[in-house]
Amino acid sequence: MQTKEFKAESKRLLDMMINSIYTHKEIFLRELISNASDAIDKLYFKSLTDTSMGINKDELAIELAVDKEARTLTVSDNGIGMTEQELEDNLGTIANSGSFKFKNDNQLGDDVDIIGQFGVGFYSTFMVASEVTVITKAYGSDKAYKWHSNGVDGYTVEETEKDSVGTTIILKLKENTEDEKYDKYLEQYQLQSLVKKYSDYIRFPIRMDVEHTNYDDEGKEQKETTHDTLNSMTPIWKKSKTELTDDDYNSFYTDKFMDYTPPILHIHSKNEGTATYDALLYIPGRAPFDYYSKDYEKGLQLYSSGVMIMEKCADLLPDWFSFVKGLVDSEDLSLNISRELLQHDRQLKIIAKNLERSIKNELTKLLKNDRDKYLKFYEIFGLQFKFGIYQSYGAAKDTLEDLLMFNSSFEGKPVTLAEYVSRMKEDQKEIYYVCGESVARIEQLPQLELVKDKGYEVLYLTQDVDEFAVKVMLNYKDHPFKSISDGDLDLESDEEKEQTKKTSEENKDMFKFMTEALAGKVKDVRLSSKLKTHPVCLSAEGSITIEMEKVLSAMPQNENQDVKAQKVLELNASHPIFEKLRGLYDTDKDKLTEYTKLLYSQALLIEGLAVEDPVEFANLICNLMV
Ligand code: ADP
Repeated sequence: MQTKEFKAESKRLLDMMINSIYTHKEIFLRELISNASDAIDKLYFKSLTDTSMGINKDELAIELAVDKEARTLTVSDNGIGMTEQELEDNLGTIANSGSFKFKNDNQLGDDVDIIGQFGVGFYSTFMVASEVTVITKAYGSDKAYKWHSNGVDGYTVEETEKDSVGTTIILKLKENTEDEKYDKYLEQYQLQSLVKKYSDYIRFPIRMDVEHTNYDDEGKEQKETTHDTLNSMTPIWKKSKTELTDDDYNSFYTDKFMDYTPPILHIHSKNEGTATYDALLYIPGRAPFDYYSKDYEKGLQLYSSGVMIMEKCADLLPDWFSFVKGLVDSEDLSLNISRELLQHDRQLKIIAKNLERSIKNELTKLLKNDRDKYLKFYEIFGLQFKFGIYQSYGAAKDTLEDLLMFNSSFEGKPVTLAEYVSRMKEDQKEIYYVCGESVARIEQLPQLELVKDKGYEVLYLTQDVDEFAVKVMLNYKDHPFKSISDGDLDLESDEEKEQTKKTSEENKDMFKFMTEALAGKVKDVRLSSKLKTHPVCLSAEGSITIEMEKVLSAMPQNENQDVKAQKVLELNASHPIFEKLRGLYDTDKDKLTEYTKLLYSQALLIEGLAVEDPVEFANLICNLMV
């Protein structure tokens, strides 16, 4: 018989399992039971649509058996089984062990990290077993196969005999070491409690021979062995909330969604009325590795009266809540409804609407009652809200606007829009914001100084999508959003306005000259009403702001490269430079041209834009120095 090698990545993972120092090796049992339960689910589901299969639901079960002498623990199921090819594909390579997939190309971290974070499915058996044998017969096949491996030397597959459909997995436990007593997995009590701990909700009975000690009338010990069911079989979402602890919810989450980071919160809702369903939703404690990529698939598991009919039902979640994991179980849905029909199902739409509302409500509650936790959540998933608003062209605004947070000039930490509005100055109509790549960069922007000085709060928009979202929203509770970089802020007193108007008029010709000196790079040069100590800044006119220009030009699609903001160079009349410029306008226009170019380049740099002609810029500075 030929011994086959494991695929390279599998081998690395296996080596890691074999030598694992992971402290929760016991999870191997949970992994095996969960695989067994999935396999039974698959068979049962098939039988629901094909009555000729003659499957009797009451006989579907998972069996545990120990042989102390042989040091073996056996987990059997009468599920769908595996064909020879499936054996090869599923157990010969790690690539199918979902959670592990993406780690393939990356370097493997230490085992605790990987096992802890992702679980590792079938291969976790090698943490406790020195040899693993899988005997399986697929539904619809008359041949059975035996897979065998000691982990190190590869594996063998050969034909074998097996009466019934299903899979039997035999673990030969490792020899005890000083640190680890593998014997414990032969103990009835240990197995009973592991099943209770990790697999209680499994829908099929997990059975085992259990020895009970009774005492007869004379007080004599009587041993009796019965074939017991170890799990309560009620799915957790069918239980009442009062009998469940946070631990119950969290361990179900870990088990079901292979995420070992505890969820931020869970939502357990039971609904009767226009739609009858139980839902158990979770907000994860970390973003899945592919969350912000196009590979990520949103969706909830969908059950019809306890039977899973779809692994990821995308229609149950709006994009802005795509991070939510969980399941919905409804008796309103037909078992063999097709994907296409499901999309148009009225019940499903009602459920989805309800869920959206409960997710929003729970997040609102979290924000109110546990702000730190909300902030933690927001840091991980908040970006999705802004994408949601933008991509829905504002349709999601009502749902999301009160969940948004932005850094603010007042607090140095994120605030909500409601908080901002509640402390707006009496005369203030607009919500001021400013964009930049970081809070530190923003705080250096010249145009911020005066607004802050006058006591206005300014929101700091630091993510690429922020300004797009705000533009789509237009306003919050009738207060329009206003970028402090755009045009006039109307912060001056009437007197000041009068003065600005006068100075502008007096210097009209110089501004015109400067605009021309910049040869189309700016639309205008004018006096600024928002500068305090800095000589210049840039603002934009029209619908494209400077921040948008930056974002768009950083995008890979070429068509956006030419989208430019209509820039205006604003000058501070109370800065000494301004006097200098005026002098030059009368005496040395060539020098004024040079100074204009320099000031424009400075303004670009301050805004975080690239200087258009760095060589010219450098030469101009050199001229100044010599
Ligand atoms: P995962 O469960 O994450 O897919 P595993 O390594 O645990 O990864 O299992 C790999 C695959 O092997 C499973 O997806 C399933 O197709 C198959 N498998 C494992 N155990 C069984 C079983 N008891 N019956 C049928 N198929 C199984």
